[in-house]
Amino acid sequence: MRCEDAFNQTPPYVDIDLFASDRPLKDAVAANGGEGAAADLSEFGKRWGAAEMFDRARQANENVPRLHALDAGGFRRDRVEFHPAYHQFMAESIGAGLHASTWRADATPAPAPAQVLRAARFYMAAQVETGHLCPITMTRAAVGALALEPALVSRLMPEILSRRYDPQFRPWEQKAGITLGMGMTERQGGTDVRTNTTCAVPAGEGYTITGQKWFMSAPMCDAFLVLAQAPGGLTCFLLPRFRPGGDVNGLHFQRLKDKLGNRSNASSEVEFVDAFAWRVGEEGRGVRTIINMVQLTRLDCAVASAGIMRMALALAIHHARHRIVFEKHLVDQPMMRSVLADLALETEAATALVMRLCRSFDLAAGDPREAARARLLTPVVKYWVCKTAPGFIYEAMECLGGNGYVEDSTLPRLYREAPVNAIWEGSGNVMCLDVLRALAREGEAAQAVLTALAEECVGLPNARDAAGQLRTELAAHDAEVNARSAVGRLATLAATAALRTAAPAAAERFARSRLAQRQGAIYGADGIEADEAQRLIERALP
Ligand SMILES: Cc1cc2nc3c(=O)[nH]c(=O)nc-3n(C[C@H](O)[C@H](O)[C@H](O)COP(=O)(O)OP(=O)(O)OC[C@H]3O[C@@H](n4cnc5c(N)ncnc54)[C@H](O)[C@@H]3O)c2cc1C
Repeated sequence: MRCEDAFNQTPPYVDIDLFASDRPLKDAVAANGGEGAAADLSEFGKRWGAAEMFDRARQANENVPRLHALDAGGFRRDRVEFHPAYHQFMAESIGAGLHASTWRADATPAPAPAQVLRAARFYMAAQVETGHLCPITMTRAAVGALALEPALVSRLMPEILSRRYDPQFRPWEQKAGITLGMGMTERQGGTDVRTNTTCAVPAGEGYTITGQKWFMSAPMCDAFLVLAQAPGGLTCFLLPRFRPGGDVNGLHFQRLKDKLGNRSNASSEVEFVDAFAWRVGEEGRGVRTIINMVQLTRLDCAVASAGIMRMALALAIHHARHRIVFEKHLVDQPMMRSVLADLALETEAATALVMRLCRSFDLAAGDPREAARARLLTPVVKYWVCKTAPGFIYEAMECLGGNGYVEDSTLPRLYREAPVNAIWEGSGNVMCLDVLRALAREGEAAQAVLTALAEECVGLPNARDAAGQLRTELAAHDAEVNARSAVGRLATLAATAALRTAAPAAAERFARSRLAQRQGAIYGADGIEADEAQRLIERALP
């Protein structure tokens, strides 16, 4: 037999409509106000599901960005060179508005369902290439903080809202569109940013910034929101690549991180050498200011993780439908069917949960209950979905056997990518601490969210007990010790509620399994009956 005649191998999973082939996504979008957008989302799904996009993703990740810190003569260059495939993804995502479509020109939120529709696209894009989504998410999120400075907003918003990607290295006023990044983490600490030592001194129309950042991703962005110590305390600044007069600003890149995944994206270590910056928000309120950005990037971490899980699931089901083992397709082997159904259930819950959270963001401006829900549940959802993804992808990889462990299957790339969403923008424990903080600070409003979730789950298996246990854990003296357990429970309760609106049958099954005390939490160990398993798999991938 010649190699090319190989039989019982799975054809490539390409040229698919990432929207139309994903019933849980369609239902979650429709349940959260996006029912009229199916045709547009399907267009996007076809475009991103094309074979050429998957090949570009491979190229963008195999050809990692390179830093050119100095030129031949030792003069500073401080430029990062990306593979053309990366630029093509940037152009695609910006062309589709993923970097800004949730904003109006005055930096107020675009009307519902802007968040849900953007998230659906972001979720599909994440299935194909995640690295470039870093500057995309930071650009859209930065507006949340910049909104505090009307003068900056009126100058920057036309450039931010532009649907044209312009990678040229020149002052932003001369560009067709711009991207924004963020620099908070320093060598001595990323969580505790109060230890930042970067210094800001008032100078002319802005400040002079001196110091270093240990992680600053997407260094070819046109400006960065950074934290620095000003005379009045830790403050947020907008630091552009070019000074107002047009000279190159003082950003000296030391090196690029050699990362586990997220390879198409560059993450720099940078030194600010008398760099110019504008203040954003009041002096001393840096954390308060930048948290408006961070809340949105946290949301995107969860949406992207749900997207990556979806692709892993689709690859697993696709393989199991083609691969024959012991004279039967894998998908018809009872144990494999249980595993796939359980994975499908987990993805469906993650998808419903992130879309419901986006609905809260859509409604927050006019509804204080939804604003409280967005505040409390963002760290909950980021914690749970991002933490679920790596183990989930590993299980999906195993469904493909040896082929899943090989780079060509793309599962290794998804696997390497997944942990970063849990680590950056607040790692797991930090999310749990944030939930406790929200409960303490928001008082009645946060309690009302818990009550609403319990009511939304009334009558579902285990829901009452789960809601009761949650309250006990949260009220305990040592709430921090129990926080991971409580936040996980809160996430599954919120997921059950989200599923009940988007996919009632799945909600029932999810509640029965995930709201109970699971032993070991291994996928496929819940004894899902054959008919139900079949339904879940068919919903996931028709
Ligand atoms: C690929 C990549 C790109 C990044 N890009 C950027 C960027 O563009 N801009 C930027 O500013 N940063 C960026 N970061 C940095 C990232 O946000 C930080 O790594 C993250 O916030 C954690 O900070 P740290 O690494 O200093 O860890 P630490 O703050 O030292 O925390 C270490 C661990 O301790 C836990 N922990 C912290 N406090 C507590 C506590 N009180 N109780 C219990 N546990 C606790 C944390 O959850 C974490 O697991 C990036 C990171 C990566 C990996």
